[in-house]
Amino acid sequence: MDINDVYKYFDTKETGLSSEQAAGLLKKFGPNTIQRNKKQSQVKAFLKNFTSLMAILLWISGFIAIFAQMVELGIAIWAVNLINGIFSYWQEHQAQKATNSLLKMLPTYAQVLRDGKPKQINSEDLVPGDVFIIQAGNSISADARIIKSTSLQVDESALTGESVLVSKQAEYSHGVGRFSEANLVFAGTVAGSGTATAVALATAMHSEFGKIAKLTQNQKHQASPLEIELNHLTRQLSVIAILIGAIFFVSAIFFVHYPMAKSFIFALGMIVAFIPEGLLPTVTLSLAQGVTRMAKKHALVKDLNSVETLGETTVICSDKTGTLTQNQMTINHLWLASHEYTVTGQGYVNNGHIQLDSKDVDLSDQPDLEMLLRVAALNNDTKVEQPKVAGDNPKIIGTPTEAALVILAEKAGINLESESKKFPRIGALPFDSDRKRMSTFHDVDGKTTICVKGSLDGILPISDTILDNGKLRPLTEADKEQINEADKKYAAQGLRSLAIAYRDASADDSLPDDTKDWTIENAEQHLTFVGLTIMEDPPRPEIFEAVRKCHEASIRIIMVTGDSSLTAKSIAVKIGVASDKARVITGDELAEMHIADLKEALKGEVIFARVAPEQKYRIVSTLQSIGEIVASTGDGVNDAPALKKADIGVAMGVTGTDVAKDAANMILTDDNFASIVAAIEEGRTVYSNLQKFLLYILNSNMPEAAPSILFLFSRGLIPLPLTVMQILTVDLGTDMLPALGLGAEKSEPGIMKQPPRLRTAHLLNRGIILKAFAWYGLVASIISTVGYFFVNHQHGWPNVALAVSGSVYQEATTMTLAAIVFCQIAAALNCRTKNSSIFSIGIFSNRRIWGGIIFEVLLLALLIYVPFLQGLFNTAAIGWQDWILLVCIPIPLVLIEEIRKYFMRKKVRV
Ligand code: ADP
Ligand code: MG
Repeated sequence: MDINDVYKYFDTKETGLSSEQAAGLLKKFGPNTIQRNKKQSQVKAFLKNFTSLMAILLWISGFIAIFAQMVELGIAIWAVNLINGIFSYWQEHQAQKATNSLLKMLPTYAQVLRDGKPKQINSEDLVPGDVFIIQAGNSISADARIIKSTSLQVDESALTGESVLVSKQAEYSHGVGRFSEANLVFAGTVAGSGTATAVALATAMHSEFGKIAKLTQNQKHQASPLEIELNHLTRQLSVIAILIGAIFFVSAIFFVHYPMAKSFIFALGMIVAFIPEGLLPTVTLSLAQGVTRMAKKHALVKDLNSVETLGETTVICSDKTGTLTQNQMTINHLWLASHEYTVTGQGYVNNGHIQLDSKDVDLSDQPDLEMLLRVAALNNDTKVEQPKVAGDNPKIIGTPTEAALVILAEKAGINLESESKKFPRIGALPFDSDRKRMSTFHDVDGKTTICVKGSLDGILPISDTILDNGKLRPLTEADKEQINEADKKYAAQGLRSLAIAYRDASADDSLPDDTKDWTIENAEQHLTFVGLTIMEDPPRPEIFEAVRKCHEASIRIIMVTGDSSLTAKSIAVKIGVASDKARVITGDELAEMHIADLKEALKGEVIFARVAPEQKYRIVSTLQSIGEIVASTGDGVNDAPALKKADIGVAMGVTGTDVAKDAANMILTDDNFASIVAAIEEGRTVYSNLQKFLLYILNSNMPEAAPSILFLFSRGLIPLPLTVMQILTVDLGTDMLPALGLGAEKSEPGIMKQPPRLRTAHLLNRGIILKAFAWYGLVASIISTVGYFFVNHQHGWPNVALAVSGSVYQEATTMTLAAIVFCQIAAALNCRTKNSSIFSIGIFSNRRIWGGIIFEVLLLALLIYVPFLQGLFNTAAIGWQDWILLVCIPIPLVLIEEIRKYFMRKKVRV
């Protein structure tokens, strides 16, 4: 189709839609979002909770109970099963909600032409017919036809799976396979380089990406390592549970001569006790809650998986500018062949005077200075918006480095707007982090002048003259030495330098006439060196604390910057990232370095300077090869491979490109290094909370099992101190809510004073198993059994035989049940910390746990006092003296744990 037919078809034109048109189309086509087919999967997700191994077991058990004339028991088992399933679903749903709301926190934008003017809109509002601009680093949010382009290359891997960049242009041609039309770009892909203007053809679910999403949305999600481990664990524990159940079943038949059905129900109690049913949904929920907490600390984690990896991080490779520093540049010094200045007047004053060395300097007798500022202002993508209210400072839009130059020039009376009118820009070679310079071409009275700025080592080699007191003279070795000396002097103070140069292209004929033929090679040569601008970028104030935290937590920080070695080192030392002894490796050295040397270097203190973003990949992968878990930051298109390679790719939310955000696992909404550290702390906390949770739910298995063991070993002489229904109550009822509270526990003091967790470490380790079964569980078993005998004792035992049924028996089992519940209250509190004193974190500081405890006690009271439930759960009312005893149980348990924790803390310190 001819492009004009496309315009006609969509009732649009090259200058885009009008706002009214767009609003109408938005109504017609709906927002440009990819919808997931929710309903079906929701029903599935709901039913899933009733078809797990344990749920099926409970359904069957209910049937057996009913068939064996235990109708009430059967119905009760079903009811418990139902409530448990609904609860699991609710947890999963909460987790899903938390993750979904995160996705909304990072909107993507599109640059459209509306009413003939460029406008930034949320990409949700993009409609078919919109004309929009694509720039390197942008994600493309609609299927579109290219109107015009300059060297546009697109990464279509989201559609094709192939990550080589594909060239796209306005002229039609067709390669092999789908999506190979050269004049079409597709939603879900990203621009790797170049620019283009395109007209949107299809959005949302009508786009090719939307169609694919529709096909694949019922696909199973990929399980994270943690999920796999948990599934594995659940399966193992289930097998153990069923084995124990089988042993109990057989024993009940042979030792106690129970009938089959009754033996089965008896064994069921054991099976349910040992299957960790709430585990997976609770883990998902606490991961999701962790993610929500991280978002509040400016770290958006894109997948739950990363929460776990964050806790394992051993090395952070961090950018300097903007991440460790504020990215607030102010120019402090100027170096010119004729003079060296210190800028003294700070702040924005557009009075045409520049204050240098505490004196007003008039540009008219400083030709070098004038040239420096003019080139700096022209070679600049900053825009200055004049204030709406008179007297306000103008608004500067652009990167801080360039803004600093514009501000200085403006102060000296060189106005960006009038300069660009006088010397219009006729071409540009944009900045990139590889060659570290940029050039702009200007029409100076019909002749072309090229303005260049960039890193000193990028400018000096291509300069052959120097401006000195308004005159050109050849650039000598002595000059170069002098310039480098000056640069070093400032770099040692942590200051950033930027070299300024220009070229009068009419002086020789190496620059082709046709603007299309201007390249880096033929333009960026024969420069006239003008001078250096030296600027300060202060460290972020939070950085010192964040760096200290990392070191305490044995997390190393490796600065990887495009800035010069000396500047990098000076800043690194200033903020404590590295010591004076740190080795600095430049990009050039890195390129030559043998892998073995690099490995060796990476084991020690090291800083990387003047590196190209592509080289980050090598640093990250080499670190990984020596066993490090690496988090790496990045913002540009070229950072994407390193971000993908890193265990945790961290993209900058403010200055980052869509490509970087796409490749990353985590996005910093404030670009701040300190937010990475906060996220790591949160990651460690989530993992340790999961262990606390696991310890808690496992420890109740012992007291649940002990009564049955007693019953079996006495061959039925000791009547069952805890009935099956009571086991189900504890396991699926009273235990659940305090456990949820553990997932929301705040970071334990000292969590950032330990080294990172080993990748090979397991969630469930020996320490937890021992603590759960041989310590918390054993104590609870003893206490609850004592409770059982205590009631019998009050009714005459051992002179009277143990009650087999009737009100004494009911009262005795009620005491066992209640004692377990109160032991669990102690356990919930004890599980809150590993080694810290619970008083140091505040005994009431976790409201959810207390809410859970109150709920648990209320539920217990209901079971004990509501007549209908008494029958179902084999309970009977107990006296107030009994309640006093029960309430006292947690006190010694918590105090004993406190003493143990105290000694653990002492041991750890030694
Ligand atoms: P960093 O790793 O500190 O973010 P950058 O990649 O931003 O470093 O910059 C690397 C070098 O490129 C800087 O030291 C500077 O010399 C040069 N540079 C930075 N921004 C520009 C720009 N807008 N124009 C020209 N050169 C620049
Ligand atoms: Mg940078």
